[in-house]
Amino acid sequence: MKVIRWAHVFMLAALAACTQTPPETKLIQGAAEAMGGAAAIQAAKTLVIEGEGLAGNLGQNVLPESKLQNWEVTEYKRSTDLAGGRYTQQMVRTAKTFPFAPGSVQRQFQGLDGDVAYNVGGPQNAAARASAMVARDRRLEALHHPLAAIRAALDPTSTVASFRREGTLQVVDVTTAKGDMITLAIDLSTNLPTAIRSTAYNANLGDVVIQSVFADYVDAGGLKLPTRVQTKQDADVVLDLKVSANKVDADVGDIAAPADVVAAAEPPMFPVYDIKPVQVAKGIWMLPGSHNSVVFEFADHLTLFEVPLNESRGQAVIAAAKALVPSKPLTTVIVSHHHFDHTGGLRAAIAEGLTIIADRNMESFIDSMSERKHTIVQDALSKEPKLAKIDSVEDQKMLKDDAMEVRLYHVNDLEHSGTMLMAFVPSEGLLINADLYGPGFAIFPAWEPMLKNIADRGIKVEKHLPTHGVLQTAKEAADVVAAKRAANPG
Ligand SMILES: [Zn+2]
Ligand SMILES: [Zn+2]
Repeated sequence: MKVIRWAHVFMLAALAACTQTPPETKLIQGAAEAMGGAAAIQAAKTLVIEGEGLAGNLGQNVLPESKLQNWEVTEYKRSTDLAGGRYTQQMVRTAKTFPFAPGSVQRQFQGLDGDVAYNVGGPQNAAARASAMVARDRRLEALHHPLAAIRAALDPTSTVASFRREGTLQVVDVTTAKGDMITLAIDLSTNLPTAIRSTAYNANLGDVVIQSVFADYVDAGGLKLPTRVQTKQDADVVLDLKVSANKVDADVGDIAAPADVVAAAEPPMFPVYDIKPVQVAKGIWMLPGSHNSVVFEFADHLTLFEVPLNESRGQAVIAAAKALVPSKPLTTVIVSHHHFDHTGGLRAAIAEGLTIIADRNMESFIDSMSERKHTIVQDALSKEPKLAKIDSVEDQKMLKDDAMEVRLYHVNDLEHSGTMLMAFVPSEGLLINADLYGPGFAIFPAWEPMLKNIADRGIKVEKHLPTHGVLQTAKEAADVVAAKRAANPG
């Protein structure tokens, strides 16, 4: 009797399980089946992806609304230890269709080991630890692959929730034990994952959506894996990868983070900047950094040239400018052009209530930057929203009073950017430029355009103060260009 009774209970339980399987579970089971089976997915230990493609040069387009220019990506290789939560990713990116002053070929190496993110590079090819935010982004990035995503969804420590339909897609949210969440979209007819979305924080744009779309599935090591992966940040394609090899359970070697990287303190998301101003002339100071800023002292106010990189740098140069002449208010900031490394401190300047002087083609860019949502990381402007005060430059603008004269000129016929301003101080023969010339550049695509703009404006430049580099005489700058070109012809 007992037996019969138990059998009866089992039968009811099985029936209940059958009818009550949540749609989330069914969806993941179906996707796992379509990809080669849950057992094979869970048994996979490593995945090596090789390929080539294109990578969008984000934040560096010619005009704020133009399409991104593309790096050509070769030697792409991502080695993932699926169970260990580790990967290394390397690629070579080459600027073939646009000039890139720091050098047209760049080798990148990025790593993730649990909560430790790091990059390998620089002259010494040294590994350096990256911030917790980078580690978060890379953990999510690692989930932007059907194998990793379905593995995560099958993991009992993850939650799969919010089943819904989006057109021909079935969609769920997968949250790992660490709290990383991806949205997974599975095609209704093939049951294969077609897209994965997550959010990330961008220093300029704030909250962004990262979406990867998968296509062209092939058989690989007993599984079905995509050979086309296109990743967008909001509307911009940042990586379009054609996979030449998907190697399941290949030997990935030792891809643990180097011991010194693991031991190193986790750096903050943005560095803490210690700025030591250098006086360049009477009433003019340089605030040195990878991107120099310049302070001009007018009769009754101060004006800053450039708030680069990120909020932390923007706030640091604003504070340094104010400290130079505490008796005069800092009222305005000139932004050289719209490229992200030069505008990262723009929101800090808007939050400070400073008037932004910029090329007229930057108006809507500045407005939209000021309105972006920054919820993943709250910056000063998101805590106290303000409208941007913009003072646009049509072709040129004269900033002049009894104490100082600075002329701003739109830089014409420049391939690098259509929003570029250069600043000229007639009393010193001093030209301040961003990205036109810097002594550390590998190539000088904007040197002749700069000379032509100088000639067209009828100004006599005796000294160069670049945002990238040191103060030089016009002759020293010309000698640097000539010497580097002679050493590296073509
Ligand atoms: Zn630029
Ligand atoms: Zn630059």
